[in-house]
Amino acid sequence: MYTLNQLNGFVKNCSKCDLYKERNHTVFGQGNENADIMFVGEGPGYYEDVEGVAFVGPAGGLLTKALNHIGIKREDVYIANIVKCRPPNNRNPLKEEMAACIQYLRYQFKIIKPEIIVCLGAIASVNIIDSSFKISKQRGKWIHKKNVWILPTFHPAAVLRDSAKEEPFFSDFLEIKRKHEELITSGGK
Ligand code: SF4
Repeated sequence: MYTLNQLNGFVKNCSKCDLYKERNHTVFGQGNENADIMFVGEGPGYYEDVEGVAFVGPAGGLLTKALNHIGIKREDVYIANIVKCRPPNNRNPLKEEMAACIQYLRYQFKIIKPEIIVCLGAIASVNIIDSSFKISKQRGKWIHKKNVWILPTFHPAAVLRDSAKEEPFFSDFLEIKRKHEELITSGGK
């Protein structure tokens, strides 16, 4: 089994898909390596590509706010993406790009062993939950898969674009807190 540092080294040198050509930085993910909760988005945007850190732009600000809302510190969770290099102009990652990159995320899951995975948006949900996943119907509903609790919610960038998504998004975070407390009470990791 690799360590997260070793994996990050592979990602930094990765050219398995064409996204490597235009990246400024790879964005491996960051946070508590022993986190109970892991958040997964789709891929780096402009700010993340500049800094090499996941969720640092306005969408990252909203994620931090939602975590503060439930009394969880950003440094206590782990935050990553389906693809580790920025798709040009923030387009959705292509199928072949996600297929090339997802093995890194699978290793991150194996190393961190989160009890809860929160899928931020449809692309993360389709890749982690089910290829036929529909965010309009399945958002906010827990899925128990391979002994991990998975909650799909909106991507923070989608919430910033549509204020009607704000209330369900924050309500999903309350649900994350509730489930986390339930798991701690029942024995945790
Ligand atoms: S997106 Fe993933 S697979 Fe593609 S070059 Fe970057 S690290 Fe490699």
